[in-house]
Amino acid sequence: MKKVYLFKVALKHRKRLWRRIEVRSDQTLGDFDNIIRDAFNHDTWDHLSEFFRERWSQGGFGEIYPDGRGNGAKKRIERLGLSEGDKFGYVYDFGDEIHHVLTLEKIMEPERGVKYPRVISKNKPRYRYCEMCEEQGKKTIAKWICMECPDEGSEMFLCEDCMDEHDGHYAEEIVY
Ligand SMILES: [Zn+2]
Ligand SMILES: [Zn+2]
Repeated sequence: MKKVYLFKVALKHRKRLWRRIEVRSDQTLGDFDNIIRDAFNHDTWDHLSEFFRERWSQGGFGEIYPDGRGNGAKKRIERLGLSEGDKFGYVYDFGDEIHHVLTLEKIMEPERGVKYPRVISKNKPRYRYCEMCEEQGKKTIAKWICMECPDEGSEMFLCEDCMDEHDGHYAEEIVY
């Protein structure tokens, strides 16, 4: 019988940022990886990721490549032997090591007509506003943070339009 697993996925070092994600028992860690990348704006073309039991240094379930291949991708969720309340880990990018804490909150029956996996809720966003727009008296939600601008202790937040004009600097998409 297929089940649905409801996970809370939170960034370990920015716990305020979380997503609730439902995955079906017969789906794989590759499917789960894919939706986590998407939900946290992790890029889907550059970095490896891996799920692991307690400590990543003690070995994980196998690496997953951005294209969904890798020896950790094929394992089915139901094969992990999880019960409600269990926690495990996920690391994205073996260089920067962005750690996530996953909690299995509930095991449920699948709903008819629902496409899994899916994100069902997320933290309340605390929006940043575009600095360039703000100078002109406009309030626009920022989408990017410039990694090359920060000076005098302030951070440079930019909306999509202002980012287009903000040439040549490396910026990262803000996760809300
Ligand atoms: Zn702007
Ligand atoms: Zn800049």
